[in-house]
Amino acid sequence: MEKRDYYEILEVSKDASADDIKKAYRKMALKYHPDRNPDDKEAEERFKEAAEAYEVLSDANKRARYDRFGHSGFTESDFSNYSINDILFNFLGDFGGFGFGGGGFNFGGGSRKYVNKGSNLRMRVKLSLQEINDGITKKVKVNRYVTCKHCNGSGSGDGSLQTCPVCKGRGSITQGGGFFTQIISCPQCHGEGKIIKNKCPDCQGTGVVKGEEVFDLTIPAGVANGMQLSFQGKGNAGIHNGIPGDLLVIIEEEEHPDFIREDENLIYNLFISVPEAILGCTVEIPLINGTTTLKIPAGTQSGEVIRLKGKGLPVINSYGRKGELLVNVNVWIPKKLNKNEEEMMKTLLDSDSMKPKLSEKEKSYFQKLRDFFSNK
Ligand SMILES: [Zn+2]
Ligand SMILES: [Zn+2]
Repeated sequence: MEKRDYYEILEVSKDASADDIKKAYRKMALKYHPDRNPDDKEAEERFKEAAEAYEVLSDANKRARYDRFGHSGFTESDFSNYSINDILFNFLGDFGGFGFGGGGFNFGGGSRKYVNKGSNLRMRVKLSLQEINDGITKKVKVNRYVTCKHCNGSGSGDGSLQTCPVCKGRGSITQGGGFFTQIISCPQCHGEGKIIKNKCPDCQGTGVVKGEEVFDLTIPAGVANGMQLSFQGKGNAGIHNGIPGDLLVIIEEEEHPDFIREDENLIYNLFISVPEAILGCTVEIPLINGTTTLKIPAGTQSGEVIRLKGKGLPVINSYGRKGELLVNVNVWIPKKLNKNEEEMMKTLLDSDSMKPKLSEKEKSYFQKLRDFFSNK
């Protein structure tokens, strides 16, 4: 793909001020932020593109080089090898948590202070039908931002925080005058009321560092492919001792060798021989847990479905209600016979009882089947 012009990416003019570029980047990053565009590859590319444009245009030397030589003035080694998480982290460092990853105001003590909320994390968890049937506590390893131990999350290298001189610690300022006063979040401290003079070297003043944690996630029985479960507080830690985001878990269902799943029902394709269908038989059927024996009555047609109540999957959050196991009976017709068998078949050819004589019930069944296919 052709590389786009950095000014074009940030939608600013060539003579834009450093401040304009910073504002434009913030706008683009918020627009294409992964929290707002989950599973959107295009947005992710735009987000990365904007970060790269900002990396060059926010640095006076690099910007001058770009103005003179364009993209050919740079090689791959000029760029930080960004992952999405790194971009998010840098963004936090540059812009604070304000307007990012959620957050909100608390109204304690008569002042309006901003509480940072960490961003949500997403992960996929693969489950077998067995695990979905039983419900499971799954151990997962999560790479997330955690509270910095060095500064206990304050972001201050020496433990001291200073009251913001702009808002005097209130977190908000009053704009305008007379009838048109408006209370807005303090631009200096992003509403936190405090500023850091000596940034903590471990977390660059954000109060959070990269970490890895193992969580036990309790997944209820009956979840389905594509379902999203939310685990509160297990996402990224919020900067400056804010509140953590959530961990969003998307369920991926593994295929089962025996069963096809249809909501809470399971479908099992059973194959029996011609004599078994004619004479009736007892077969062993797999269940999600163990097996069961099933009597196939004499004269069972191919395509008949035997319903086993309560042998399907649990219905999620239903206090034990379960679906059915649908045994789909198929009569297997052999392609090769020995001489002897062939002779036996020939003697049956003219037998009156072998001639198809559909009962009313069978007629209506096959009629329904026809309607089903013609509707597709
Ligand atoms: Zn720190
Ligand atoms: Zn302030």
